[in-house]
Formats: sequence, C-alpha cells, structure tokens
Amino acid sequence: MSSTPITRFEPGLICDFCNDPKITRDFHCKSFPFVVGIFNWGSNGDWAACDECAALIDADKWDALADRAVAGNPSLENSVTLAILATGSGLKSLLLELHRAFNANRIIRVVH
Ligand SMILES: [Zn+2]
Repeated sequence: MSSTPITRFEPGLICDFCNDPKITRDFHCKSFPFVVGIFNWGSNGDWAACDECAALIDADKWDALADRAVAGNPSLENSVTLAILATGSGLKSLLLELHRAFNANRIIRVVH
C-alpha cells in the first residue's frame, strides 16, 4: 500500500493537490526540496488527498491531476507568477514538476 485511509480530521486539513476539504487518503512521502527557477519551496512529509485526486494518482494520470490542481488553486496563480515568469513555464508545468517530485519521493510500503 502506498497510502492509508485518513482517520484524523485536523481542522483546516485539505487535499494537497486540489484543496478539496473532503480528504480521504494519506500518501506517505519523504520530505523533499522543490526548487524551480526562483520558486523555492519544500514538501514536509505525507500528502493528503481527496478521493478524486487519489484515484488519479493510483491510475498514474498526472496530466489530469495537474489540470485538477490548477482548477483547485486559483490563488496559486498569483503567488507563483514571478516563478512562472522566471522559468518561462506555466502553473500547470510547475505543478506537473511538483507532482513528479512527490511521486519520486513517495514511500511505497510493501506488506508481506
Ligand atoms: Zn484533491
């Protein structure tokens, strides 16, 4: 299993991909730095996901996940505008890159 059902419902906890407040899964992940151009960010531990995003992750549908993340993060467009200008890429490209890093740092637990 690469994720577990979320049993904790911390106030304000939302899907780390699309901001949906109805999170149902936790994807275990190592912490990692994420630096693209002047966009300097880091991910700290597990990622919470809603049903829809979890299904896209399980199905390796990263392009659809990035589309969903762009649609769910209208305010992100403003906060990363400088980074987008610096890298020449769009928000979707940045999120695709971020999700690639997330996937590379996922902790896949093998249950024997
Ligand atoms: Zn989601």
